[in-house]
Amino acid sequence: MRLIAPKREEVTGEVERRVVAQLLALMDGLESRGQVVVIGATNRPNALDPALRRPGRFDREIEIGVPDRNARKEILQIHTRGMPLPQDEEERTRIIEDFADRTHGFVGADLEALCKEAAMRALRRILPEIDFEMESIPAEILDKIEVTYRDFEEAFMDIEPSAMREVLVEVPDVRWSDIGGLSEAKQALQEMVEWPLKHPEVFEHMQTQPPKGVLLFGPPGTGKTLLAKAVANESEANFISVKGPEILSKWVGESEKAVREIFRKAKQASPCIVFLDEIDSIAPRRGSGFDSHVTERVVSQLLTEMDGLEELRNVVVIAATNRPDMLDPALLRPGRLDRLLYIPPPDREAREEIFRIHTRRKPLAEDVDFKKLAEATENYTGADIAAICNEAAMLAIREYITSGKPVDRETLKKELKVHMKHFEEAMKKVKPISAEELEMYVKAAEKFRRQ
Ligand code: ADP
Repeated sequence: MRLIAPKREEVTGEVERRVVAQLLALMDGLESRGQVVVIGATNRPNALDPALRRPGRFDREIEIGVPDRNARKEILQIHTRGMPLPQDEEERTRIIEDFADRTHGFVGADLEALCKEAAMRALRRILPEIDFEMESIPAEILDKIEVTYRDFEEAFMDIEPSAMREVLVEVPDVRWSDIGGLSEAKQALQEMVEWPLKHPEVFEHMQTQPPKGVLLFGPPGTGKTLLAKAVANESEANFISVKGPEILSKWVGESEKAVREIFRKAKQASPCIVFLDEIDSIAPRRGSGFDSHVTERVVSQLLTEMDGLEELRNVVVIAATNRPDMLDPALLRPGRLDRLLYIPPPDREAREEIFRIHTRRKPLAEDVDFKKLAEATENYTGADIAAICNEAAMLAIREYITSGKPVDRETLKKELKVHMKHFEEAMKKVKPISAEELEMYVKAAEKFRRQ
C-alpha cells in the first residue's frame, strides 16, 4: 500500500502524487458503502499518506501483530495437518507444544516455512529408495515417510524468523555460565527479570509488580552487556539492543520516533528485553552541559514509553551506564529504572573464572596457571582479560607459523598450544584502563549508591 500511496510530502514523483490524489477522490466518491469495501494492507502504516487514514477513507485500522504462543500453536497445527507426523500421539503433541514454545518472533509465514523445511528433510531420507522410472511411488515407501521431532529441530536451526530480520531483534547466545564472577548480579537479575518473564502467573497470584526497569552501572568492560544478553537468553526472551549515541546520531531529527519504534517492536516481540547501553548519553542530568532540546525530548519519550509498559509486563528495560552520576534522576523514579545493580570490576577469584571461560575452547599447555594469571591482573576488567586470552592465542599462532612446522591436524593437535609465556607476553600488550580512571568510575558508582 505504501508503494502506491506514500506520504506526499516525502515523494518527488509526480505520478505517485497523482495516484494518491486519485485514490482519495475515488474513495470519497464511494458515497454509501454499498457493495464495495476497500481493504489496504501495509507493513509500514506510518509511511502512508495521512490523508488516507481519515474517516470516510481507511477509517478502521487493525494491527496484525506477531503471533503469541497460542496463535503459534494453532498455526503449527494448521500447517502440519496433512503431514505424516509420528503415529504416537504423545510425540505429536510434543512437537507442536515444544515448537510453539520455542518459536517466539516467528510469524505465520515463518512457521509455514518451518513445517515445509521439516517435511523436506523427511522426504530426503526416503529419496534414495525411489525409482524415478516408475509412474507412481509405491504406497509402502510413502507410508514410511515420517516427519520427526528431529526434522523440526534441524529445520528450526535454519529458519530465521522475519521479526528478527530487522537489525534490532535478536536472541542472544550468552549463558550464565559464560560470565565470570558477578554472582550477586546474576541472582538479582534472575529474580527481577527472569522469574517474572517466565512465571508471570506467580507474580499475578501474589499481586506483586515485578520491576519494569533495571539499571546496571559500573566501569566499562565489566560484563553489563553480557549480563543483559544472558538474562534474555535464560528467560527465553527476545533482545533489542540500542546504544544511546546511536539513537541520537543514526536517527538525527527522529530520535523520539526511534524510541517509540524500539518499544513498539519490543511489544511485538514480547517477551522482550530492551537493552539501552550508554544511557547517560540520551538521558543526561538536566543542566549538565549536555543539555539540548533533543535529549530532553528523547528522555520524555522514554519516560512515556516506560510509564506505558504497565499492561505489558513482559517487556523489561535494562539500561547500562559507566556514569550513573550523570543520569537524569527522573529516570530512576519508581516504576522506571528503579532497580540499581552495581557491576564492579572483577576481584581475583572472578578474574580466574573469566580466564577459564575465555580459554575454555583453546588448547592450553600444562604450564598455564590460572591462579597466577588472576593475581597478575589486578585492575583488569573482563573485557581486558578477554583481550589477553585472544592476544595470547595470536602470539602462539604467530610463533608456530613462523617456525615452519607442519600444519596438518595431527601435528597441530600435538604441538600448537597456548603457553604461560604467551599469556605473560599478552599481558604486557593489553593494558588495563589506568588505575585513576578505574578509581573515577568506582567512586562515581559509590557516590551514586549512597544517594
Ligand atoms: P560492558 O557492557 O560492561 O561495557 P561487556 O559486557 O560488553 O562490558 O563486556 C565486553 C567483553 O568483555 C565481553 O564480550 C566478554 O568477552 C568480556 N567480559 C567482560 N566481563 C566479563 C565477565 N564477567 N565474564 C566473562 N567475560 C567478560
